[in-house]
Amino acid sequence: MRKTAPPRPETEPTAPQPGDASTNHQVQRLLALNRAAVAITSELELGQVLQLIVDSARELAGCRYAALGVLGPDGYIARFPTSGISETEREQLGTPPRGHGLLGVMLRAGRTLRIPNINTDPRRVGFPPHHPPMTSLLGVPIWVRDRLMGDLYLTDKIDDSEFSEEDEWLVQLLATHAATALTNAELHTENLQALQRVRRERARFQALFRVTEAINRSVEASEVIKLVVESACELLDAAGAAVYLIQPAPPEDQDSSGKFHFSARYAVGLEDLAPDAPYYLPLEGSTAGRAYRARHAQVVNDILLEPDLRFPVLAGKTLRAVVAVPLIVGDEILGVLSAYADYPQAFDNEAVLLLEAFGAVASTAIHNVRLYEDARRGREAAEREQQRLRELESMKDEFLSTAAHELRTPLTSIRISAGLVQEQMHQATAQDAPLLDPRMVNLMDLVVEGSERMHALVNDLLDLTRLEHGRTALAVEDVDLREVVQTAVQTTRPLFDNRNQTLVSHLSETYCVVRGDRQRLEQVVINLLSNASKYAPPQTPVEIRVRRVGDECQVSVRDNGLGVPTDERERIFERFYRGSNHRRDRTASTGLGLPIARQITEMHHGRIWVEPAPGGGSIFILALPLVRS
Ligand code: ADP
Repeated sequence: MRKTAPPRPETEPTAPQPGDASTNHQVQRLLALNRAAVAITSELELGQVLQLIVDSARELAGCRYAALGVLGPDGYIARFPTSGISETEREQLGTPPRGHGLLGVMLRAGRTLRIPNINTDPRRVGFPPHHPPMTSLLGVPIWVRDRLMGDLYLTDKIDDSEFSEEDEWLVQLLATHAATALTNAELHTENLQALQRVRRERARFQALFRVTEAINRSVEASEVIKLVVESACELLDAAGAAVYLIQPAPPEDQDSSGKFHFSARYAVGLEDLAPDAPYYLPLEGSTAGRAYRARHAQVVNDILLEPDLRFPVLAGKTLRAVVAVPLIVGDEILGVLSAYADYPQAFDNEAVLLLEAFGAVASTAIHNVRLYEDARRGREAAEREQQRLRELESMKDEFLSTAAHELRTPLTSIRISAGLVQEQMHQATAQDAPLLDPRMVNLMDLVVEGSERMHALVNDLLDLTRLEHGRTALAVEDVDLREVVQTAVQTTRPLFDNRNQTLVSHLSETYCVVRGDRQRLEQVVINLLSNASKYAPPQTPVEIRVRRVGDECQVSVRDNGLGVPTDERERIFERFYRGSNHRRDRTASTGLGLPIARQITEMHHGRIWVEPAPGGGSIFILALPLVRS
């Protein structure tokens, strides 16, 4: 029914002639037209404009009734404002006309129609019951640019005459003003709608921003979820909202699906939701469950049409519509965010999108908090484990130190006595004494050797324990490391001689003074040298070097042994650790020499470590802070 061609008045209005008797009357009518035009074009609200158009048309044409059939998008009359009929009369008439019969004829024609008596017109379909009787009709279309907006219908002149040509052109002129007013009103409505959209968008962004900010600030999921639920409720104009998290159902409350159900962590507007008694929804047979299974939003426009679903109860209101969006992080669904309304069809596409945006924020919040809680639990477990290890370590220390103390005295007696017996036995052997079994002499040698080793072990253990517990004071002085090295070389010389190893010293020409305990530092260097002798093959060279490197003085001991495997270079400084290269050989070893050396070094604020030597073997380096001359 939509027309594309602009209207063309059927009859051109005849211009009023001056001095004529009817001229005054016509001028009056033109002035009335002008007043009507000003009135209708100064109003912007569409409903008001429509009413003003019918009222002024009726007045201008001097008739009893007027109506305006406004075309809807389907081409039929969508609105039908009237003038001259009371509210009660209108109600009695029931549904307004849609555009059949004469009105339809006019709409289809898209031009002015003047009928002296509609009751005799063959095109009419008749009035509904209670319709006031009507005779003459003037119908004038309203065109807005090339679009037919609708028709103005005027019936029954007050003086019972027919509508005149003058009436026709006056109403046609009014129709052109009406078109302008309607265009303005339409634009105004569009503006208002756009403004509303912008406002809604802004409110939505602000709410999302608030929630996102809260997430960044908070490690408390409940705080963020509360904000999400409240903001969603407010922005969707919902009567309630809730976040349900999926979790195993307690045995006494298992639903038909068995293992899982939802419980609301936070909700607004729902009945009986105490924090200690969360609201449960079954996984099967709920909107939340559907959203969970489908992994996308679910809308129930009217719960009366879904008798098989279970819904929560709104506080003080009757639930009618529900929207539920899943809370997804990666592949995992954490739960569902739902909003509830107390009227049907409450949630449109925009509402769903909005809830989805809030859902995404809530999912991130819940996910972050879970990660945070996991990390905290992990940290606490690690701390507990460390504490337990520290306790075990200190129990072990305690035990070793007590054992070493207790062993020292009897061990001294054994060592001295065994030494004496061994000496006697060797003397007797030298004199070829009878009755002395040579195997006894060998056994006694083993006893002496064993007790010497135990003695060394007990001494090392006690020494390390004392050092570690700060029970050993250092006799600190300025010490030239070159002297320390010279003494250590002299002390260990027999070890190298025994194994036909050459020990070469390279002592720096320059000043190499450190603050320290001379004897303790000698102990460290002796340990490094005796290890070099012990772990390098016979007849190989060992080098010891003293030099300044930056702010430090370094002593390095290099041998041609097997070296230390990369992953053991730190571990050999732990107590009782013996390198994998030497576990099977019979080298006398306690695994305490290097820990003692490191302890002493650290008490001197220095460092000690091992590096692989180019071409094989190891270089042990002791570095101590240099004293400025
Ligand atoms: P011990 O020598 O009594 O075993 P240490 O604490 O002095 O105890 O040494 C720990 C381990 O370090 C040794 O068992 C050995 O495997 C390794 N190690 C020490 N010095 C050397 C070296 N010069 N070359 C190769 N390995 C060494």
